[in-house]
Amino acid sequence: MRYTFTILKIRGIPIELHITFIGLLGILFIFSFPIIYPVLLFGLLFISVVVHELAHSIVAQRNNIPVKKIVLYPIGGAAQIDEIPEKPGIEARIALAGPLTSLVIGIISLGINLLYPISFPTISIFIWSGTLFFDLGVLSIILAMFNLIPAFPMDGGRILRAILTFVRNDYVKATENAAGIGRGFALLMIFFGIMGNIWLAIIGFFIYIGASQEVRLARISAILKPIQISEVMLDREYALTVPPEMVISEAITLMHRAQVQDLVVCTDYDLIGVVSWDDLLKIPPPLRLITRIGDLKINPISIKAENSVFDAYKVMLKEKTRLLPVVNPKAPCNLMGVITNQSISYSLGIDRTEEKALFFN
Ligand SMILES: [Zn+2]
Repeated sequence: MRYTFTILKIRGIPIELHITFIGLLGILFIFSFPIIYPVLLFGLLFISVVVHELAHSIVAQRNNIPVKKIVLYPIGGAAQIDEIPEKPGIEARIALAGPLTSLVIGIISLGINLLYPISFPTISIFIWSGTLFFDLGVLSIILAMFNLIPAFPMDGGRILRAILTFVRNDYVKATENAAGIGRGFALLMIFFGIMGNIWLAIIGFFIYIGASQEVRLARISAILKPIQISEVMLDREYALTVPPEMVISEAITLMHRAQVQDLVVCTDYDLIGVVSWDDLLKIPPPLRLITRIGDLKINPISIKAENSVFDAYKVMLKEKTRLLPVVNPKAPCNLMGVITNQSISYSLGIDRTEEKALFFN
């Protein structure tokens, strides 16, 4: 089942609506019908949130950081930025761009309201005044202010982490401190949310989880970044390599005998990619005798030996794979070795950050 729907693309960034967002719009429409004002205001606020997320995205792109997509949930938007930079200046600029843009939208809306005060009939259960650009202006300014609360990983929290990283010159410690403050705010939001505003409680819940994940990622990054792939990769002999002409049934037998869960697909000269045991089992048994590996969708992933283990970890997480081929044009079929889940666990055990701490203490 698909949970998001792409509505448009701006600067190569798909803008997607989450199914719960569409549901909320539907509920709002049904509850307020025949009065359309709440849906109209919500629609404009939604455009204001998209512009807020685009502001984050454009600043990220200007700093050569790819933006995957923008997804809109009922509790707000999220720009999925590939990798939040550890350079505090860039993180602060990306984080600040959103709330600043919302503030500008708010001020412009209030300005428009002074010139063209358009009023609509509204319903008493909504606190909005019914004056379109006044309400939009106020809500956009609230959006800017709310995002500036230093509840990491919200925008304000990211600015706080950037400042702490700059001051302490320790990215992991700064993340831990910002996340601690973020969790505090999250618990307050959950507490006050349960008392009255369930929306606030849900946002608090996501902030709490987000803060914990960011700390984990920062710690993993600190350990894995100093380790090169060439230090921990397994030799090419550890990978089961097969040609694309092999039929599925034969490949399954080979994998079972070798007790491996992933295959590296290679021609005589070139690496094609990785196929997993689960991919092969998706083919119905009668077809396994006639279907070839090359007929399947092979994931064309690989990495170079001079990259860090953290780079490999990110690719494996993103591609949901347990095995990543390491390429070198001089090796047969370009395959120099492989990084597996175990290589990552092994690398996490090396932990040079501890060694460094022992040295300097
Ligand atoms: Zn934002």
